[in-house]
Amino acid sequence: MEFRDFNDARTLARWLEERDENKLDALFKSALEVKRRFRGEGIYLRGLIEISNICRKNCLYCGIRSGNRNVERYELTDEQVLEEARFSLEAGYGSVVLQGGERSDGVFTERISRLVYKIKKLDAGGGRGLGITLSLGEQSREVYREWFRAGAHRYLLRIESSDRRLYESIHPSGPLHGYDNRIKALEDLKSEGYIMGTGVMIGLPGQTVEHLAGDLLFFKKIGAAMVGMGPYIPHPDTPMGASGVRLCPDSSADAGKLLLSLKMVALLRHLLPGANIAATTALQVLAPDGRERALLAGANVVMPNMTDVSVRKNYQLYSGKSGLEDTAQDTKDKLVQNLDRLGIRVEWNEWGDPGKQMPDCILGNR
Ligand code: SAM
Ligand code: SF4
Repeated sequence: MEFRDFNDARTLARWLEERDENKLDALFKSALEVKRRFRGEGIYLRGLIEISNICRKNCLYCGIRSGNRNVERYELTDEQVLEEARFSLEAGYGSVVLQGGERSDGVFTERISRLVYKIKKLDAGGGRGLGITLSLGEQSREVYREWFRAGAHRYLLRIESSDRRLYESIHPSGPLHGYDNRIKALEDLKSEGYIMGTGVMIGLPGQTVEHLAGDLLFFKKIGAAMVGMGPYIPHPDTPMGASGVRLCPDSSADAGKLLLSLKMVALLRHLLPGANIAATTALQVLAPDGRERALLAGANVVMPNMTDVSVRKNYQLYSGKSGLEDTAQDTKDKLVQNLDRLGIRVEWNEWGDPGKQMPDCILGNR
């Protein structure tokens, strides 16, 4: 079977509709082979710290949107964030991700600079310390620059859907949630020197395989070096989730969304062989081994949750989030056990960024 010419929207859409198990099995195996060839045998870990659920935005799908009055708002203290970062360092994760609601006030932006700076200083052993990824929404170019100077070098900002109309249908109208702002932010991040990551939700109402094929080509066009794609999972306290929330797991719908997500990962691995592709946490909602299956379909990054158990329940973007009662150590133990069982090797204490020596691979120009 030929796995060439994934640069064509119709080919991608056909694969996204493919149901033949043998063909799909071959696609996943081939993606894993491409991942091994371009990114090596192992995978990379980034400790995820959900610093706060306070957000100025009101995205129609998100459980921590500003309009949701049923959420208890929290902000981790500096000490909590540093403790979780220290755990990540000692656990051998190599990197952390600071993720949270979007805020643009000076108190917040200065606090992030301070935290990034302190996290960089944590390594007393003379190493280069933790790699720092930020995922804190749209900011001005000056703020991105300030955070980069403090020591962050990667940024995750999903486009959610690269199709303007679909994007607009899942966000409130008005400039705060505008599509053009999102595109500008992604361009700004690249210009400021970040390793830029983006991604989409899969299975949105009104989304077609043509939209998803367009998303894959968008990642390549915009020069994403990291991609995080996960299933859309309704949250009952959101405008989009209020009507469509399942009361009990719907296994056939879940299986369909999981398969679609795995196909997206495998196709993207062929399109962007050198990129970092996340096996996202939301996959675990659809199947307990959802993340591991994504790793076997070409993904190479996992973000184990570090967030303090006392606030985990307040950072529920979607319903059914797993591991709400787990400590950072529990999360690590379970993950390592699952990876060991599948023979998936972890590259401990590594940043694992796409190599500058292979820009053609990142851009997919093989
Ligand atoms: N506020 C920042 C932002 O929006 O980029 C970072 C945190 S935000 C909660 C991280 C991601 O969560 C979003 O980009 C979105 O794709 C995802 N998300 C939010 N609600 C979701 C849902 N109901 N199902 C799946 N993913 C969701
Ligand atoms: Fe805020 Fe991000 Fe959720 Fe939108 S997706 S409401 S920006 S946390």
